[in-house]
Amino acid sequence: MDFDLTQEHQMIKDMSWDFAREVIVPRAEEMDRTGEYPYDIMDQMAELGMMGIPFPEAYGGSNGDWVGMHICIEQISRGDMTLGALLDVTTSVVGQELDVFGTEEQKIKWLVPMAEGREIGAFGLTEPDAGSDAGSIRTTAALKGDEWVLNGTKQFITNIGLKNASILLVAAVTEKKQAGKNIISTFIVPKGAPGFHLGDRYDKMAWAASATHQVILEDCRIPAENLLGDSSRGFAQHLAVLETGRISIAAVAVGGAQACLDAALRYSRERMQFGKHIFNFQTIQFKLADMAVAIELARNQYLKAAWLKDQDRKHTFEATAAKLYASEMVEKVASDAVQIHGGYGYMNEYPVSRFYKGAKLLQIVEGTSEVLRLVIGRQLAG
Ligand SMILES: Cc1cc2nc3c(=O)[nH]c(=O)nc-3n(C[C@H](O)[C@H](O)[C@H](O)COP(=O)(O)OP(=O)(O)OC[C@H]3O[C@@H](n4cnc5c(N)ncnc54)[C@H](O)[C@@H]3O)c2cc1C
Repeated sequence: MDFDLTQEHQMIKDMSWDFAREVIVPRAEEMDRTGEYPYDIMDQMAELGMMGIPFPEAYGGSNGDWVGMHICIEQISRGDMTLGALLDVTTSVVGQELDVFGTEEQKIKWLVPMAEGREIGAFGLTEPDAGSDAGSIRTTAALKGDEWVLNGTKQFITNIGLKNASILLVAAVTEKKQAGKNIISTFIVPKGAPGFHLGDRYDKMAWAASATHQVILEDCRIPAENLLGDSSRGFAQHLAVLETGRISIAAVAVGGAQACLDAALRYSRERMQFGKHIFNFQTIQFKLADMAVAIELARNQYLKAAWLKDQDRKHTFEATAAKLYASEMVEKVASDAVQIHGGYGYMNEYPVSRFYKGAKLLQIVEGTSEVLRLVIGRQLAG
């Protein structure tokens, strides 16, 4: 077994962290306060090739792998978790679904600009009445002549509010099985398609800069060729790429937790109480030790899941465990980091407060902790 990063992975790690430290960290507080998305930062990430790491060169990528992609997501999230999630949605979920299930024409048209970072993708599974029970979606798609006509509402859509978001991958019901079960297909819906309405931007408890909106599809017409993959397997396609999304959310969590540990360690060596640096109090050191152990375990788990994926091996348990453990870990680590900062940690100017508020989301998106435990339970049942 070899736990060393390859030269390429080490390069991705160094490049991503240098970028996060020099460009993202100084802007993160302002992004969160103003809710303004940093287009210039996204442009620089694109220039460094971050959106295309796992995709073939022929489609705008750099022929890398999913271990490399997730190392990048971790380091970017160490600067700001919303930007790590932007990479997750546009690359691990949308980009991958286009790459694996798209036709040559679809890849040239939609994947290339995304892998090159000129356009950003969004995925639309969740609806007002279908969250964890995503198979019960109500959005419909009907083929009329040479167009699909879609009707329905998609809820909580990440990235879609960005100026450079080009498409929403929409899961929609195209047929009912005899037993009444939905047959779901996936469609590439361009943001400006007729009948595509962007709802108001959500006012969230954190992640202000991440542009999350509702999307209303009202007789939304798209060309027949915008069906993505097998019409009867759209739901399975979505679930397959969401498995990678779970590895990505774990990497976001590890990056956020590492930022909290870095900050808490630094602060504990500066802050004096009772004539000592607080680092010298054993209770503080124990907190830091527990944080470091939990982060390392979570990191090893997401790397193992990504490695299995790169070997084309089954990784449902590993990806689910990585997301479940890391998303719960980051909430605790961020809370302890705030605690180590005392009252200062409660102030918005200290990054740990932002990571603490943002951490909760990771237990909800791309499968809640409860649903992930159900998935793991099913794996154990065999
Ligand atoms: C900021 C943000 C961004 C998001 N981005 C996207 C996006 O880009 N695209 C997209 O499609 N979706 C997105 N989502 C939606 C997200 O994936 C859902 O919120 C999530 O899947 C949970 O669905 P729900 O909110 O409807 O909760 P519900 O499914 O209603 O769950 C409510 C509670 O019940 C629990 N529960 C549900 N079923 C069970 C069960 N069988 N057993 C035990 N407990 C259960 C849940 O775990 C949860 O605690 C986003 C959400 C947020 C908040």
